[in-house]
Amino acid sequence: MKRLALFASGNGTNVQQISEYFKDSKEIKVDCVVINKQNIYVIERAKNLNLDCFYFNREDFYNTDKVLNLMRQRQIDYIILAGFLWLIPDNLIANYDHKIINIHPALLPNYGGKGMYGHHVHEAVVKAKEKQSGITIHYVNDKYDSGDIIFQAVCEVKPTDTADDLAANIHLLEKTYFPKVIEQTIFLQTTIEMAKQNVINNIGGPFAALIVKNREIIASATNTVTSTNDPTAHAEVNAIRKACEKIQNFDLSGCEIYTSCEPCPMCLSAIYWARIDKIYFAGDKDDAKSGDFDDSFIYNQISLDKADREIKSVQFLKEMGKEPFEVWNSKKDKIHY
Ligand SMILES: [Zn+2]
Repeated sequence: MKRLALFASGNGTNVQQISEYFKDSKEIKVDCVVINKQNIYVIERAKNLNLDCFYFNREDFYNTDKVLNLMRQRQIDYIILAGFLWLIPDNLIANYDHKIINIHPALLPNYGGKGMYGHHVHEAVVKAKEKQSGITIHYVNDKYDSGDIIFQAVCEVKPTDTADDLAANIHLLEKTYFPKVIEQTIFLQTTIEMAKQNVINNIGGPFAALIVKNREIIASATNTVTSTNDPTAHAEVNAIRKACEKIQNFDLSGCEIYTSCEPCPMCLSAIYWARIDKIYFAGDKDDAKSGDFDDSFIYNQISLDKADREIKSVQFLKEMGKEPFEVWNSKKDKIHY
């Protein structure tokens, strides 16, 4: 279970949406709200949502470890900026590297930086007669709006749109995407952390995968090729086996797989056989190649004629080879898959 702290400076619409989204999650829990102003409406929301709310002033934030200590005490894994307008102090950045996530109401790197928040952004976008705007979900570093981008979604800006119209469209994007992308980011980032740990612990290659059904992790696995002497024990295959065991079914329809690296041809095939709905991956086959895991070689082999492939395949007993299918086809009580 990963724990979130939501930082807010005002009304707290995003606090409300994120908290409601994770209300029944078994994987991610909103733990508390941290604010930097008194008499703001988010305090009321936190109370209604049954969330502890902590106020810190400028001195606390920038010249003490009070906020960091609270995060540690409450075992916070991720800090989510839900309309929080101050720069995040260095002690939090250092301890929560790529664990602090913000949403910006425009398509960064445009319309970001100091003073560019809320309505100021929408007014600038409309004034510049932009044809589109959107949201940017990004990691937070020590400068405003300049951390690595995780996700962007775009909306059209019509020539007749006012800043208020644009604000309404952006709010809709925030509501649609922010909580979901937080969840997806945490799942995928978890696979990356597992993959790194797998190498450190000498379990196998730098790969890990999670299978998620109805937003719950039903299986997680790493690559165990070297520790189990099993060349098929890739993270995705291991995760598929565990997930199928767990739900006692060979069909993983309705599941999604998160994997630290783009699946190799074997795992991609396994994912198709298992009928998993969707794949989220971080590294790709070129990254794998840099670690001498040359998936692209096998991808290329598949596209060649059999005669031109590295491993020769020889057919004989062609007629007898039909017999198992005759048995299969005539069996009345077979389990289709
Ligand atoms: Zn694989």
